[in-house]
Amino acid sequence: MPVAAPTLEQPASALRGVGDALAAKLAGLGIERVIDLLLHLPLRYEDRSRCQRVATLRHNVPAQLALRVLEVDQRSAPRRQLRVFCADADGAPLLLRFFHFRNAQGQGFRPEAGLRVWGTARMGPGGWEMVHPEYRLFPELAAVRPEGGILPVYPLSAGVTQSRLRGLVAAALEAAATDPVLAVDVPGLDGPTTLAALRLLHQPPDADTAAALEAGTHPAQQRLIREELLAHQISLRMVRRRVRADAAPKLAEMTAARAELGGQLGFAMTGAQQRVIDEIGADMAQESPMLRLVQGDVGSGKTVVAAAAMLAAVRGGWQAALMAPTELLAEQHARTLEEWLAPLGLRVTLLTGRLKKAERTARRDAIVEGAVDVAVGTHAVFQEDTRFAKLGLVVVDEQHRFGVRQRLALRDKGPEGHRPHQLVMTATPIPRTLAQTAYADLDVSVIDELPPGRTPVVTAAVANTRREEVIARLREAVAAGRQAYWVCTLIEESEQLAAQAAGETAELLEAALPGARVGLAHGRLSAADKQQVMREFKEGAIDVLVATTVIEVGVDVPNASIMVIENAERLGLSQLHQLRGRVGRGHAESQCLLMYQPPLGEAASERLDVMRRTHSGFVIAEKDLALRGPGELLGRRQTGVVGLKIADPIRDADELPAMAELAEKLLDAPDASDTVTRLVARWVGDVQRYGQV
Ligand code: ADP
Ligand code: MG
Repeated sequence: MPVAAPTLEQPASALRGVGDALAAKLAGLGIERVIDLLLHLPLRYEDRSRCQRVATLRHNVPAQLALRVLEVDQRSAPRRQLRVFCADADGAPLLLRFFHFRNAQGQGFRPEAGLRVWGTARMGPGGWEMVHPEYRLFPELAAVRPEGGILPVYPLSAGVTQSRLRGLVAAALEAAATDPVLAVDVPGLDGPTTLAALRLLHQPPDADTAAALEAGTHPAQQRLIREELLAHQISLRMVRRRVRADAAPKLAEMTAARAELGGQLGFAMTGAQQRVIDEIGADMAQESPMLRLVQGDVGSGKTVVAAAAMLAAVRGGWQAALMAPTELLAEQHARTLEEWLAPLGLRVTLLTGRLKKAERTARRDAIVEGAVDVAVGTHAVFQEDTRFAKLGLVVVDEQHRFGVRQRLALRDKGPEGHRPHQLVMTATPIPRTLAQTAYADLDVSVIDELPPGRTPVVTAAVANTRREEVIARLREAVAAGRQAYWVCTLIEESEQLAAQAAGETAELLEAALPGARVGLAHGRLSAADKQQVMREFKEGAIDVLVATTVIEVGVDVPNASIMVIENAERLGLSQLHQLRGRVGRGHAESQCLLMYQPPLGEAASERLDVMRRTHSGFVIAEKDLALRGPGELLGRRQTGVVGLKIADPIRDADELPAMAELAEKLLDAPDASDTVTRLVARWVGDVQRYGQV
């Protein structure tokens, strides 16, 4: 019975030979649908179109050769090994070594037989060799033919081989040929069709094409890069348009609120805080929902900005909510907002999982009855069934994942027909080019000024052989009534080992610092215990907090003035910057000691150097990007959300403005809606998933 060819939108299991087990492994690579196979692009290519000579081999570079077998030798000591001595047509020698082999295998290598091998060439002690090459025997050297073709090499995960994936991609390309989806022109994008470009990337016709593809300069790639950026821009702008189409409360109270709040603070707002507050005020005075991101370095005073926005919402007759990622941060915000806003007559309430059930219910009831003006809580608590009487503003703090889901999670909590204004605050500075890609659905404000009177944190790199000196410095600081963080990091990505190391360090410090109160926080503690330790540190009941990298962003302990980071050479710049940002918040001069294990590699040395010289999160983010590339800057999870498969927001920054413009044009064109839907489905997946949380 003839089976219809699968369509591109069908699950990968629609392809012949893909069962549940393989489908699960493919899903691990992000391949769910047939089309995802086509969008799973090669990392590089193997040129098997011709055989090269030994004379042109390069160390550690894979190659295909035509050889003549000279002699075979099998031995069992010191290690079982099969050696096949060969020579190419020039008579140049090459040794093949096999450590895993069947006895019969050795007998196949008859002297004078021809042999085609594919493997990584190494210059060994006795000349060129290959270990475990792929090979095929021929009657004689003259009969050896190259395998032919340029083979793509894909990113893999356990249980899926290159040849398996190549076969599946070929099947998907066949399916694409009968499915018209990819052959349609995208108005405004020139170059080959999507299908032609994809075919070329998976099956380049010759070595020159493959080389251009590896260099990233082939027009087919440019075509796909532009298409992906376009799809990405469209999807974010679609969400934005959908949100903006709703009605939001028109809140024109910001000027008054800013002045009112200013009178409550014990300090003058910075120019940057005032400017950003005004930008927010202009948004909130509109009838459509604000969608604004505030980026501000650690310690730049984002909470003041949030408080001003919340006060303006309440003065306009609406409620405001602030979502924090952890209970401790929620508590900290509730306390701060209470201090600033309660004297102005606002009713602030805190919702966390720590509250007794009856108390939580009572507070929820107060929120839904409108007896609360400002509700502060964790994402988790709000996502449970918290309703509001009249929610006009949602502030999301410390959002450093770019997920749209959480941003929109509260959108339905306003009264019927109204969607609240939304303000997202992040301390993860990202360079402008990247911001355009990641945040095309948001307007961006930047707090580019720190409050006055901050002394920059003095940063030094110290070899861990000088641990005693570091401890001595800690002893002095504790004696002077100051507090310190000691962060343990480990080689292995194991929170269990890190916890163990932190425990040992805590014991060591307790012994070395008599009289000091040493606390311990790590990921193996329950959330409640961890929060409790952090709380005690904040209240000054702990002098030295030994922690793994779990210590949270946003925690404000102004009396803490020393940050020791062990194995600092293993951390990325952004993480080092976030950790260092925990100190330097008070009046005392603060220190950050980056302990490292010598000798220091070049890249690590450069990172520590950047930390010593630079304090601006934005400069550090740019450096980070330059040193590591965007995928790593965003972290695996976050890249998943930014979700670019082929485009690189830094390398391809030049393409962005045009694609952003084209995205708007297509969204406005009534006859382009099919194209738009297809592009988004192809590159981004189900946009509904983001828009309809
Ligand atoms: P972040 O931007 O990291 O969230 P916070 O809002 O926690 O920063 O502010 C950090 C500290 O700076 C807080 O103790 C806060 O009260 C203080 N602060 C904020 N703005 C100013 C200002 N304009 N002048 C002086 N101190 C300020
Ligand atoms: Mg903060």
